[in-house]
Amino acid sequence: MTADSPTPRPATIAVTAGRPPHEPDQPLNTPIVMAATYVAGGDLEYGRYGNPTWTALEDTLGALEGGRCLTFSSGLAAVSTVLDLVGQGGTVVAPAHSYTGTLLQLADLESRGRIQVRLVDITDTAAVAAACDDAALVWFESPTNPALEIADIEAIATAAHEAGAYVVVDNTFATPLLQQPLSLGADIVVHSATKYIAGHSDVQMGAIMTADDALYGVLKGRRDLLGAIPGTFEAWLTLRGVRTLHLRVERAQANAADLAGRLAEHPAISQVRYPGFGAIVSVVLADGAAAADLFCHRTELWIHATSLGGVESTLERRRRWKAEPSTIPEGLVRLSVGIEDVEDLWTDLEAALQHVTSRGSSTPALD
Ligand SMILES: *Cc1c(COP(=O)(O)O)cnc(C)c1O
Repeated sequence: MTADSPTPRPATIAVTAGRPPHEPDQPLNTPIVMAATYVAGGDLEYGRYGNPTWTALEDTLGALEGGRCLTFSSGLAAVSTVLDLVGQGGTVVAPAHSYTGTLLQLADLESRGRIQVRLVDITDTAAVAAACDDAALVWFESPTNPALEIADIEAIATAAHEAGAYVVVDNTFATPLLQQPLSLGADIVVHSATKYIAGHSDVQMGAIMTADDALYGVLKGRRDLLGAIPGTFEAWLTLRGVRTLHLRVERAQANAADLAGRLAEHPAISQVRYPGFGAIVSVVLADGAAAADLFCHRTELWIHATSLGGVESTLERRRRWKAEPSTIPEGLVRLSVGIEDVEDLWTDLEAALQHVTSRGSSTPALD
């Protein structure tokens, strides 16, 4: 790109960013650079401080979110690096419904006297604003996992900044294509790149983005020191995944919207939660936990598995996890809609639901 070329749009960034220069005999793709150390005198020096394969991925992800990016060995490594910014005894405001690993980290830090945690209903903007008083950091996801509630990012960011708190948004569910929290006032964006960004359920990867150079420097220093760096092969695989992010998200989202509508009509389902964008749909089975478990075990195309954001469709009953908040219904099943043909996905769901309905009436006591 020359200095006066137009700013590329997201689909173009996903495909073109982070590539070697267009010069004879340069590879089109950044190679996997396996290096624990470098010849002295340059910027990299040592493998824990930097790697050209990470840089290619970070340039791409940073451009998509509108900031600078640091990648990590997992989403939770990115989460812990950000939470490490909070000073001793500082207060963190977070939604009661969040990714369980994040909630467990917050609870762990609080139980050891490191931080104080204020859990809020992230849809209640006024209550969140009130909770920001004296807080060091406001942390939230939108949509939330697995309740799929939506936060008013802009209003919360304004209130948090008035109170002097940093704003961190976990943008894993929305992806940088559907929502860019930095442009809405967030200071830091966090991703489990394990999910949509890598997109093939074969890599663990985390990312942090910020448009604040000072914050970037602090976070880079924390990564250098704490050492939760990504593997080089994983960085390469993740970048390969990003090349099709826009196509995968477009297709998965179209499938999800279609299935959400069909599921809402089904008598075995008492509630469908779909915020109108993204590819996660949560449904509540009318007959509760046993029906939800049966549903998850009866699909054939849909794989019963935790996690989300892969090309393949998966589902799970969230309350099977002890750490899941008790306010999440026992019969809630979270569907991660993939990119298969939507008719095949529906046929499989309908057959599994049919089984739940017929079993439910003949054998009421399922265990
Ligand atoms: C999976 C997930 C994480 C944690 O990421 P890992 O890569 O599993 O460590 C954090 N936030 C959200 C919203 C997630 O879905």
